[in-house]
Amino acid sequence: MQNCKKCRIQIQGEKERCPLCGGKLVGEPSERAFPVLPKTKVTRMSFMRVSLFLFCAFETAMIVLGCCLEYWPGWLLLAMVAAVVGIIDISLAVYYRNNLLQLVAVEVYIGLVVTVMIDLFTGQPYWSVNWVLPIAFACLPVATAIIGKASHMEVDDYILYLLFDVIMSTGVQGILLLNRIHTFRYPALISIAFVIVFFLWIIIFNHRELRRETSKLFNV
Ligand SMILES: [Zn+2]
Repeated sequence: MQNCKKCRIQIQGEKERCPLCGGKLVGEPSERAFPVLPKTKVTRMSFMRVSLFLFCAFETAMIVLGCCLEYWPGWLLLAMVAAVVGIIDISLAVYYRNNLLQLVAVEVYIGLVVTVMIDLFTGQPYWSVNWVLPIAFACLPVATAIIGKASHMEVDDYILYLLFDVIMSTGVQGILLLNRIHTFRYPALISIAFVIVFFLWIIIFNHRELRRETSKLFNV
């Protein structure tokens, strides 16, 4: 067993220095008190580093190619923008890896922004605004509730995410509707109505306090 002469303590397991004074230890290390988990092969940092390197290499190659061609074709600029979105996406995924609800929400919102941008880039924001936004805004609260239920969370724990989905869905789509951006309005209107009804349904039938109160009310 290792021990520190200064602190007169014995140390279980294998330590490099004394945990109290930081001094040197003498004696033979004993078996570790707790099992040690094997280290994951790819750490977060090395993964980030490789991604960042690939991103920089790709952007450099694109710039060199653009200079060689002496003009900047649209696909080249699009590829460069896509790489920027990709690296932001990877960084966010690494950052939010412990919170699946945040990660899903962030990914969906990034996806929506990219979709609308691509649509604007290629002409008018018709299919994205008419179809992609309404479907995504309707699916997000359902996905949030499913993830919440699957990870055994109380409704109180993810209700703020749902509320945020409602605000974003009605806010963004409401502004677009008011400005008459849609060429086909029904999906957006149905989507807004669905998200609000879904939110109310979750609140009324799943909220702990409310459920208790209502059950009391009907049992009397
Ligand atoms: Zn010590």
